[in-house]
Parts: sequence; structure tokens; C-alpha cells
Amino acid sequence: MSNSETYDLISIGAHPDDVEVGTGGVLIDLNRRGYRCGIVILTQGEMGTGGTPEIRAQEIREAADILGADILATFDWGDSRLEDSYEHRLEVARVIRAAKPKIVLAPYPQVGHGRRQSHPDHVAAGVIAVNATNLAVLKKADLPGEGHLVERVFHYFLPPGVTPNFVVDITPHFDQWIEALSAHKSQFLNPEKSKDYIDTLTMMARSYGMQVRCKYGQGFYAVEPIVVGDIMSLAQTDEH
Ligand SMILES: [Zn+2]
Repeated sequence: MSNSETYDLISIGAHPDDVEVGTGGVLIDLNRRGYRCGIVILTQGEMGTGGTPEIRAQEIREAADILGADILATFDWGDSRLEDSYEHRLEVARVIRAAKPKIVLAPYPQVGHGRRQSHPDHVAAGVIAVNATNLAVLKKADLPGEGHLVERVFHYFLPPGVTPNFVVDITPHFDQWIEALSAHKSQFLNPEKSKDYIDTLTMMARSYGMQVRCKYGQGFYAVEPIVVGDIMSLAQTDEH
């Protein structure tokens, strides 16, 4: 457990529902284990077909309550025109220095190919997150507080062709995850939108789960290899 001012993990998203979609099950799991998680959102989601920035801000609060996470910052850096810039890096680095997380989760920072290519805001959010973690370390950075080293950055929202190199089993938290997604009514339960998003996201969780023989999972990509002690622990699938 952390002290009252710091967080174990920060999950960063471009849009108000990104963190729930890509990392929500993990945040619920960490909350149940006694860790503190924070959420940072870089745009207001004003380009979304459903909802308004005001409605979406309320939905974020409801969803965060269900996840058991705190909203540390919501920025307004332009839905569909989010860009990596020195100012944006500084702002996110400021949050990182204050919260001192060991782990940062952020969208995959490179664009995919084809019709299902990544949303450019997701790519930009990933790049901003990586650059901000690098900036947060620098003693001479124009930031308050001491330099802070984030130990690991893991990416979600993997484009087609990028296989997760680890999957978190969220099966015990599946219903709560769906509840958190459902808090984003304007996005996922909006009768004006024909697509059944909750069903699609459920299938995504099933797909990641199937790869590691659990029912529902959330997939992540670690740029650096993951250290393992007893490699036999990687073969223990009986708990699934
Ligand atoms: Zn998004």
C-alpha cells in the first residue's frame, strides 16, 4: 500500500472512456489487491458521436468510482487533434511527479495499418505518456518536485499485428468491468448508435483471454522484456 499522496499506477487515456476500455479490469483487480490507481485523460471527447463534454465528464466520474480509481487530471487538448508537444509532456510529467507511480499504462504509441488502424489520438497519447515519463526523471526539468522514475510503461490498445506480451486475467472482475463501461452511457448504451459496443468489447476480452487460457483478459505490450524468477511460474495455468 502507498501512503496517502502517491499512487502505484497511473492509466493514461486520450478520450474519456479509453482507460476503462483498455485497462478497466486491471484497475479493478489492483484496487481489490489494495493498490492505488489514478486516471489521466488528455481530451474531453467532444468529437464523439454521443454525449457532450459535460455528460462525458459525469460518466468518467461514475466509471472511476466503479473502478475504484481516482481521476488525477483531465485535460482539454483537442479530441481528434491531440499532439505530442513539449507543453503536453510537461503537464503529464507534472502529474507523474506528484503521484509517483511505479507503473504507467498508456495506449500503444505507434500507428497500425489498414482500416482498423489506431486512432491518431491514441497514438499521440502513448507518445506523450512515454515522453512525459522520461521528462519526469530529469532533475533540471522545469517542474516542481523531485525527479521520479516510472519503473515500467505498459501499452494497451494494441493495433492489429501487435501481440500482447502479457495478458491480465480479469475474469473475476468481468461484471464490474462491464458496469464501469456501462457508466459511459453516451458511448456504449446510446440508442442512436447501432453498434453493440459492449458486445464487441466482451469479444475483445474473450480473445485476449483465449490466448492465455482464461475466460476474459486484457492484453498489454511491454517494450522492454519482463524479468522472471522461476520460469516454472509461467507454466502454472491451474488457477485458470
Ligand atoms: Zn479513444
